[in-house]
Amino acid sequence: MKPLGLYVHIPFCARKCAYCDFASWAGREADRERYVEALCREIEIRGSACGHPAADTVFFGGGTPSLLPPELYTKIARTLRANFEIAPDAEWTVECNPGTLTAEFADALRESGCNRLSMGMQAAQPELLRALGRIHDLDGVRQAAAIARAAGIDNLNLDLMLGLPGQTLDHMRETLDAALDLKPRHVSCYALIVEEGTPLHGWVEQGRVKLPGEDMDRAMYGLCRDTLEKQGFHQYEISNFALPGGECRHNVNCWQRRDYLGFGCAAHSLWREERRANPRELDDYLKGQAPETEIISAADARFEYMMLGLRLTAGVSERDFEERFGQGLWETYGARLEPAVRDGRVTRRDGRVFLTRRGMDVMNSVLVALLD
Ligand code: SF4
Repeated sequence: MKPLGLYVHIPFCARKCAYCDFASWAGREADRERYVEALCREIEIRGSACGHPAADTVFFGGGTPSLLPPELYTKIARTLRANFEIAPDAEWTVECNPGTLTAEFADALRESGCNRLSMGMQAAQPELLRALGRIHDLDGVRQAAAIARAAGIDNLNLDLMLGLPGQTLDHMRETLDAALDLKPRHVSCYALIVEEGTPLHGWVEQGRVKLPGEDMDRAMYGLCRDTLEKQGFHQYEISNFALPGGECRHNVNCWQRRDYLGFGCAAHSLWREERRANPRELDDYLKGQAPETEIISAADARFEYMMLGLRLTAGVSERDFEERFGQGLWETYGARLEPAVRDGRVTRRDGRVFLTRRGMDVMNSVLVALLD
């Protein structure tokens, strides 16, 4: 069995951003210790139930993992190591938000084996960051990168956002330049999604905030792609760009639909075709509410494999598909993609199928044909 990915969710934030509908809470610092206790218990129980399997990626996401006191972070890291066989060359990523990373926390990261830091930079302009309700500015991003490097963590991802209220192509250009100045090995470019129930959604509905619109979003996305490619980054997934060897292995494993275990509130797991969803609410998780579980049917597993695999620019290997789902199956299943091949949304080459650039823009129209 291939090694697993491990995901740990840390749901605490300094302030709730105006667009955020992730499982994260501000003002719950007093619960951090109790949460880490529950988390460590979950890691022990699942580690033992799964037979202490090998893992080759670890990812702490949130929320803001860098808001944990260093000793609580270290406790989780030790519990992971005690319950899983974590490979010596495992990729170990921790998300942090600028303005929350201290030298003490960065030292704890290095000592735990963390070798990759993922930072929510979003934009370079203070007015755009303020409009999102972010607590940081560009100097905070620079300081956090310097703190990480001083602690010996040089592998940096920066998350950028496009389609923000008031954002122009010049803003995007400045943001890309500022990001590249920090010498990241990986850059993610995400389009803002206005989620119902967030303050931003209300402001847009009331006409208080205007979004740039679809054409401008597309132009910003094109600018990100062209600028990053000129600097040696290659696009390996719809929103993700890396220098050679800098791809996020944890996420690639998820897109290749390998098994992973998630710990903490709102965390999901995929383990031997069983999906598990932990309670989303922090209080429900702290009360010990049981996760929801579901056995995934072969048809759903096949569809998910294609849906996730087609996000990667390397696409899906026809041979790997048959190894997973049965010899001879590709001939009939893959034939469903023929209309998309004919009109240029999908390409076939060297035993692989992948989305063209146009196909990436209209991915859902390709996936519909693969549904049973
Ligand atoms: S820092 Fe991230 S997780 Fe926290 S509120 Fe902002 S967007 Fe949400």
